[in-house]
Amino acid sequence: MNNNLKEILTIGKYFRNKFGQKVYKVPISISGFTCPNIDGTVAHGGCTFCENDSFSPNLSENNNNNKFKFKLNPLTKDNIYLNKQLKQLQMQFYASKKVLENKFKAEKFIVYFQSFTNTYAPFDTLKALYSKALGFDDVIGLSIGTRTDCVTDEILDYLQDLGKTKEIWIEYGIQSFYDKTLEKINRGDSTANMRKWIIKTKSKGLNVCAHLIYGLPDETQEMMLETLKQTLKLNIDSIKFHPLYVVKNTILTSKFLKGKFIPISEKLYIDTVIKSIKTLPSNVSVQRVTAGIDDNSLLAPLWCKNKHNLIQKIKKTLLQEGLKY
Ligand code: SF4
Repeated sequence: MNNNLKEILTIGKYFRNKFGQKVYKVPISISGFTCPNIDGTVAHGGCTFCENDSFSPNLSENNNNNKFKFKLNPLTKDNIYLNKQLKQLQMQFYASKKVLENKFKAEKFIVYFQSFTNTYAPFDTLKALYSKALGFDDVIGLSIGTRTDCVTDEILDYLQDLGKTKEIWIEYGIQSFYDKTLEKINRGDSTANMRKWIIKTKSKGLNVCAHLIYGLPDETQEMMLETLKQTLKLNIDSIKFHPLYVVKNTILTSKFLKGKFIPISEKLYIDTVIKSIKTLPSNVSVQRVTAGIDDNSLLAPLWCKNKHNLIQKIKKTLLQEGLKY
């Protein structure tokens, strides 16, 4: 064992340092949430890589559950399904909590609003869901996945208030700090807007996790690393890296099948992640170094099938650089 290894600050270590024990994130998916990039508010169809029911009708929860045929947006006048959403939240949380307790003896939890855009709903609905989640046994905080065009001063002020006693994180999808790339992926947001709202979020003392995608159309390694540099300038607290992969029933599928999109190679992805991790300031934690998809919806690149294998390769390469993940 090399004693000179430098430990990378993972989010697990960050939580252990702060709370003295392991903290588990519990992913939640609430029916009725969508995204302004899907419902036509800023665009139709979503980001080109996004698997959503506008391209894949059998993903729609409508097939299984007529109760949730509606989709929320911030202007929805009367959310008549709120009680059902609250029940859904409770059921999902306690089911996962039980599994984590049995498997890992987990004691502390963060409720992670993961699917779609979790601030894209009437403010009252958001307040009801967030406060309900914070009232669950052993929950110490929230992590809320969203877009920078779906937060408001009102939402951030409310979260700032919650942050006085709870651990509140906002996870922003950045993906790229190049407007031309954001256009290519039909992101429906701009780098100027991302900067504005991340700076605002940080000014309110909230924790920010940034999500970056490596391998976006026509991006070179230099561009990916520049995106990281621009992201770090915003004093974010944590980061997630994700390779761009093609799943069926997305806009990217047809581009890929026509040869108009070439996925990033495993070698380039690993090299870019390693270079990225090496430049992180010591206070920025790493939440994810890759993602994988182990089912037949993955079209390419096939090296994304085995996430575990990829993580091992990244860990091994980091070790060679004197870094322990
Ligand atoms: S922002 Fe997220 S949910 Fe919305 S279209 Fe893009 S990937 Fe899909």
